[in-house]
Amino acid sequence: MSAVISFPIKENDIISYNPATGEEIGRVSAASAAEVETAVEKSREAFQLWRKTSFAERKRIIMRAREVILDEMDEIARLISDESGKPVAEAISMEIAPVLDLMQYFAKNAAKMLKPEKINIGLYALLGRTSKIVYQPLGVIGIIPAWNYPFSIPLGEIVMALMAGNTVVLKPSELTPLVGLKIGEIFEKVNLPKDVVQIITGDGKTGAALVESGVNKIMFTGSVATGKRIAESAAKTLTPFVLELGGKDPMVVFADANLELAAQAAIWGAFCNSGQSCSSVERLYVEESVAEKFTNLIVEKTKQLQQDSGSKETTDIGAMSSEKQMKIVEDHVAEFEKAGAKILTGGKRNVNFKGTFFEPTVISNATNEMRPMQEETFGPTLPIATFKTEKEAVELANDTEFGLTASIWTGEVKRRTRLAEKIEAGTVCVNEVLYTHGIGQTPWGGFKNSGYGRTHGKFGLMELVQPQHIHVSHITLVPNAWWLPYSPIALETFRGFARHFASGSLFQTLKLAPQLLRRIKELRNK
Ligand code: NDP
Repeated sequence: MSAVISFPIKENDIISYNPATGEEIGRVSAASAAEVETAVEKSREAFQLWRKTSFAERKRIIMRAREVILDEMDEIARLISDESGKPVAEAISMEIAPVLDLMQYFAKNAAKMLKPEKINIGLYALLGRTSKIVYQPLGVIGIIPAWNYPFSIPLGEIVMALMAGNTVVLKPSELTPLVGLKIGEIFEKVNLPKDVVQIITGDGKTGAALVESGVNKIMFTGSVATGKRIAESAAKTLTPFVLELGGKDPMVVFADANLELAAQAAIWGAFCNSGQSCSSVERLYVEESVAEKFTNLIVEKTKQLQQDSGSKETTDIGAMSSEKQMKIVEDHVAEFEKAGAKILTGGKRNVNFKGTFFEPTVISNATNEMRPMQEETFGPTLPIATFKTEKEAVELANDTEFGLTASIWTGEVKRRTRLAEKIEAGTVCVNEVLYTHGIGQTPWGGFKNSGYGRTHGKFGLMELVQPQHIHVSHITLVPNAWWLPYSPIALETFRGFARHFASGSLFQTLKLAPQLLRRIKELRNK
C-alpha cells in the first residue's frame, strides 16, 4: 500500500493507515516488554482499590461512559471507519449500537448475576453445615483483540471485566491502535480511577509480552495460529485464557425457506465488513432443486451493492483492512477457479480505488474438497455448493475444523431444532445470520478450533471471576465422625455412611443415627 508519510519513522513507531486511501492517519509507539510489565504492575495496584468498589459505583461509571459514546457517536464511527475501512453505517450498527446495549446490560445486571449463591448440599445440611459461592474478581485481565471489530469487541470485554471487579490492560491490534486509544480516552473522560484501564499500543511482540507478564487472564480474539501460540506461552505460567478464534461458518438453505429473505441475509452475512467477521457466511449450501433460482437472486442483489470509501454514508462495501488480508482473498478466489468453481460476479481487486478494495464475489459450483472451502477466507466471497438431502446438508456443514456459528434457513418448524442441534457450532441461528455477537446477553464462543471458553452472557461473565466456595459448620461442640483416631466403631460408622448416608435418602440416613452417636461419643471420650 502506498502510504503518505508525514514525518520520519522512528524504530518503534506503529503507523496507522486508512486502508481506503493508503494515507497515514496517526502513529503510536510499540510498548516494550518492560513497559508492558510496568503497566501490569500498575494495574495490579489499581486492582486493590477497584475490587472494593460497589456494583453501584461500577455501574455509574459504565453508564457515564455510554453517555460519552453517544455524544461522540459520529466521531467514533468515523475513526473506526478510517482505521478499519468499514462503512460508517456498519461502525454504528455493528459496533457502537451493540456495545452500548452490552454496556447497559452488564452495568444493570452484573450485581444480580454475581450475587453470592447458596448451594444445596443435600444431607450434609443435616450435619449442621451450609455452603455458598461468592464470585471473586480475578485481578488483571489482559485483552488482545483482532482488528476487525476494534471498538466493540475490546470495549465489551473491558466492561464485563470491570463490572466483575477486575482491572484491564488492553493491547489493540497494530492495524487499529487509534480506536484502542479512543477507548482509553472514553474512560478518562468519566474519571475512571487511574490505571484501572490501560491501553498499551504495539504489535505481536507487545501482545506476546502481555501474555508472559503474569496477568490473571488473557482474553484473546484472533487467528487459530496465534491462539495456539498464546496457549503454549500461557501454559508456562499457568495463565488462564479465553480464545475467540476463526470460523468457516456455513449457511444452509432448504427449498422451503423464504428464498428472497435468505438471499438478502446471505449477502449481508458474507459481505458486511468486507467479509472480515469471524461469523461471516463463508460457505453457502443450498438445496439442489432451488439452487439456480437462489443463486440468481444472490448475484442480482450483489451487483447492486455500492463499493466505496467507508466514510461515505451510502457505501455498502468498504475497503478491506490490509493488503495482507486481501492477498489471502486473491489466493482463495484463484484457487476456486483452478479447482473448477465459477466466479459469477466480482472476483478481483477493485482498481477504481487506491486502497484495498476487493469486489463482492459470488462463486458457484464450490465443493468441500476445494481448499478455500476449508480455510478461513475472511474476505467478501460467497462460495455456493449444493446438497440433496438433510443428512448431506448436516455432513457438509460439519465437515470443517471450525465451529463458531452456523445458519439454517427453512420454513419447516420441526426441522429447525432437529437440525440445529446436529450442527457442530457454538451458535446456530435459524432463519437468521451472523449477528448474535451483538446480543451481549447470549454466550459467544466456538466449538472445535473456533475457540476455547466464552465471552458475553452469563458464561462470559463467569470467565472473569473465580468462584469461591465458603463452607461453614454451625456445630462447634462435637467432633466429626470421620476424624482421627480410627477404631472398629469408626469403621462400622464409615460402612454406614457408605450404605445409608451416600444413598441420598433421608430415611436411609436416619438408620445411621445410633451408630453415629456411638462414634461421636467414642471420639469425645478420647
Ligand atoms: P491475529 O491472530 O493475527 O492477531 C490477533 C491479535 O493478536 C492482534 O492484536 C495481534 O497483534 C496479536 N498478536 C499477534 N501475535 C501475537 C503473539 N505472538 N502473542 C500475543 N498476541 C499476538 O488475528 P487477526 O488480527 O488477523 O484477526 C483475524 C482473526 O480473528 C480471524 O481468524 C477471525 O476469525 C478471528 N476473529 C475471531 C472472533 C471470535 O469472536 N471468534 C472475532 C473476530 C475475529 P497485531 O495485530 O498488532 O499483530
